[in-house]
Amino acid sequence: MRVTRGQIVSRGLANACPNCGQRTLFPPGAHFTLNHTCANCGMTLSRPDGFYLGPLVINYTLTVAGVIVPLILLFAFDVIGGKTAVALCGTGAVLVPLLLYRRAWGWWMMTYYYFLPHELPANAPGGRREATP
Ligand SMILES: [Zn+2]
Repeated sequence: MRVTRGQIVSRGLANACPNCGQRTLFPPGAHFTLNHTCANCGMTLSRPDGFYLGPLVINYTLTVAGVIVPLILLFAFDVIGGKTAVALCGTGAVLVPLLLYRRAWGWWMMTYYYFLPHELPANAPGGRREATP
């Protein structure tokens, strides 16, 4: 069965495996540990060659654009004081990436496979179950 780009987006937003749609990216009870493979379809989730940089960039971008820059602007326009801005920037720089860690992985896999849907095992010729490492 072919996985469409629409399914890839909906699965990414649901933080689910882009190949089978099951919520198997993370083992139960482990917030910061990505499964090496999907427990349902066996697709390799933890890929080598800097694949982990995708969620890092998403987290960094959202933290800077959504927290740091607005706080700097609030400071620049004298809405908040300097110490308050620094304290909130530091807190946001730690909390936002922690809170978005799992979501960032889902969004990253959604983005990656949206542009490269043929790399999903379900979309490979013959519909093989596992991706080539
Ligand atoms: Zn799967």
